[in-house]
Amino acid sequence: MFKYDERIEKFAKTALEKAKPYFERIDEITEYNQQKVLKAFIDNRVSEAMFGVSTGYGYGDRGREALDAVVAQSMGAEDAIIRHQFTCGTHTLGTALFGLLRPGDTMLVVTGRPYDTICPVIGITEKKGQGSLADFGINYAQVDLNSDGLLNYEAIKKAVDEIKPRMVYVQLSRGYTIRKSFSVAEISKVAEIAHSCENTIVMVDNCYGEFVEKTEPTECGADIMAGSLIKNPGGGIARSGGYICGKKELVELCAYRYSVAGLGREVGASLGNTREMFMGWFNAPHVTGETLKTAVFSAALFEEMGFEATPKFDESRHDIVQAIKLENSENLIAFCKGLQSGSPIDSFVVPEPWDMPGYPNKVIMAAGAFTGGSTVELSGDAPLRAPFAVWHQGGLNFHSAKVGIMLAAQQVLRTMNK
Ligand SMILES: *Cc1c(COP(=O)(O)O)cnc(C)c1O
Repeated sequence: MFKYDERIEKFAKTALEKAKPYFERIDEITEYNQQKVLKAFIDNRVSEAMFGVSTGYGYGDRGREALDAVVAQSMGAEDAIIRHQFTCGTHTLGTALFGLLRPGDTMLVVTGRPYDTICPVIGITEKKGQGSLADFGINYAQVDLNSDGLLNYEAIKKAVDEIKPRMVYVQLSRGYTIRKSFSVAEISKVAEIAHSCENTIVMVDNCYGEFVEKTEPTECGADIMAGSLIKNPGGGIARSGGYICGKKELVELCAYRYSVAGLGREVGASLGNTREMFMGWFNAPHVTGETLKTAVFSAALFEEMGFEATPKFDESRHDIVQAIKLENSENLIAFCKGLQSGSPIDSFVVPEPWDMPGYPNKVIMAAGAFTGGSTVELSGDAPLRAPFAVWHQGGLNFHSAKVGIMLAAQQVLRTMNK
């Protein structure tokens, strides 16, 4: 059906054999998380009647309330709000930050410089006056990762003791850097340090982290966390939105920012989005497993081809992002073209490098998704500069994503042999 060079077939066969034991581990985690989510549906008596459409103010929307309860239980949290009105992950995280922090408070980020889109929310980029946390008198402090790219617990302890911040903030995922993602156990250690200070809360940017491990940060010390529904927890079905979960009184504060003081979570018409958010959440553990298999297979395949993968195929994973160092721009372009050609949507589109606003170098992207910008679907991004890495993530099912990865590998191989 799909034609591959003999060498690609051989590399893929070896890669798959190497990946097998890791697939078994992924299946075990998937099964556990899938049962956790199923149990949350059963315990909260989810029924078809809850898929009904609310309009206007959306008062007393039973589906919305039950979905919040399902999310809270799945994440081992006291409470949650999940809404299609959150426009993206950044908006959801920003809502939580503004909901929780007050003028004079300090936000202490302990995972180095945050994800690009979060910087303007905090106000650590040049743009002033857009209504960032800084504009409202909220202070910022940062503890960098150590030289190995790991959490610097000593420096975190020192900063917490000195600053007594209102919030310690952890970004679980590597985002588009070469550092490692952080485990729930590591986050739990940070929480222990942070909680030595009486009034400090721990917030986690959980983007790309949901359902990768058997436990979530809110089960292990985090007070609040947030993520995007066009990543893992939307299961490839939710078309937009985000969730916030954690301690009851904190989620309540975030809800006042999601709508407005006084109204909070009482308003917000579902407009018919409830069914697909339920369905997406239900599928999320399985889909996350498929994305992890895709990442492990890709790492093993490109390692067979002599490239460096990070994480390596046999390394532990705490997010769904895979980086492959491809050594030069030509290989990055070839990878993205190959990946795109194996997408279910827009397979015929040929991606080209472009000057993305805010980036010093050209960037090339591959995305052929049912949902615009969805990164739980197979997609890749590569800035054309050292270390010449492509970051790819997603794959709604391994069987189709495997094709995308193999076509990407084939395109790279052909470019190298030119
Ligand atoms: C994706 C992501 C965000 C922001 O999400 P958007 O939906 O792109 O706004 C924030 N932090 C991390 C680590 C992410 O991966």
